[in-house]
Amino acid sequence: MYARRMDHLPPYLFARIDEMKEEKRRQGVDVIDLGVGDPDLPTPPHIVEALCTAARDPKNHHYPSYTGMLAYREAVADWYRGRFGVDLDAKKEVLALIGSKEGIAHIAEAFVNPGEVVLASDPGYPVYKTSTLFAEGKVHELPIRAENNFLPVLEDIPADVVKQAKLMFINYPNNPTAAIAPLSFFEEVVEFAREHNIVVVHDNAYSEITFDGYKAPSFLEVDGAMEVGIEMHSLSKTYNMTGWRIGMACGNPEIVAGLGRVKTNVDSGAFDAIQHAAITALTGPQDCVREACGIYQERRDALVKGLTDIGLDVRAPKATFYVWAPVDDCMAFSAKLLDQAGIVATPGVGFGKNGEGFVRFAITRSIERINEAVERMRGLDL
Ligand SMILES: *Cc1c(COP(=O)(O)O)cnc(C)c1O
Repeated sequence: MYARRMDHLPPYLFARIDEMKEEKRRQGVDVIDLGVGDPDLPTPPHIVEALCTAARDPKNHHYPSYTGMLAYREAVADWYRGRFGVDLDAKKEVLALIGSKEGIAHIAEAFVNPGEVVLASDPGYPVYKTSTLFAEGKVHELPIRAENNFLPVLEDIPADVVKQAKLMFINYPNNPTAAIAPLSFFEEVVEFAREHNIVVVHDNAYSEITFDGYKAPSFLEVDGAMEVGIEMHSLSKTYNMTGWRIGMACGNPEIVAGLGRVKTNVDSGAFDAIQHAAITALTGPQDCVREACGIYQERRDALVKGLTDIGLDVRAPKATFYVWAPVDDCMAFSAKLLDQAGIVATPGVGFGKNGEGFVRFAITRSIERINEAVERMRGLDL
């Protein structure tokens, strides 16, 4: 009944974990879910208020524009200028997205012919692969490993693969490894992309979730980046707005336009009231972001200490709300953790085969719950 391309979609490991979690809950276990990459904190009230006001205005009840309201795109451009020192032409170099996942899922349609290669890190956010598969391209996995600080080694990509490569996804601060990239890595990517005519898509969803004074860069800060690539960004993680579905694609105007053409044919834009609320988020006070990072940092420290105490060799990440912990066998570890302690953590293989040997903990639960999880783990032989 289903089309053949459906067979190639990656197995959805997370659905199985959900089943196991539900089974535990049915048994009466108080499950601590450190599996989900979705902030538990609410959207700041001034943003919610802006939505309510905008939702009441009938002007916002019609079809939105395909590209996003100019005022929203200007707010994005201003935010990029203030935050990263990157100058964007709001009219040509910024496009509204219905969350960055939407942009990632559609970008390959605009640039990848059937059989052409897309470079995507492994482990990685699963949508890079599905985007490629829907466009009937071929994924070439770039292993990201601890010994290379979870950065792909571009020289290791075989020459024949490079020749067929059309597009490349990168993502720092990284999900699931929580790794960060130095600007020199982005420079390397720009050089590589220029030489081989590859469209670069940098996913910067976690640029604002950082700790210990670290400030994540934009890919677009690097000389030449605007010629080869775009950056997918979103308000989801920055302002606890995952449910709102609002993001942006920024960068090279031709690439932005290509994605825009695909979108014109499949969706009708983001609700204007949400764009008004997003303008409030981007242009309003930013202390809510710093406060959230403070909360995550306290949780990170508690979890990292707990995991270290039980013998895992974890380092405190500088960004994202994940802790990527090395274990022997990730499936066995996760199963044991759920079975014996009622704790959900995601096995690394869920993000690609090179995720074997790791589990991902999301610190999207209260400090009390994280301390409780640490206590439960202490008694275990993992
Ligand atoms: C959460 C996430 C996204 C998508 O977020 P949206 O809500 O669709 O904007 C994109 N990339 C990575 C790596 C993520 O973790």
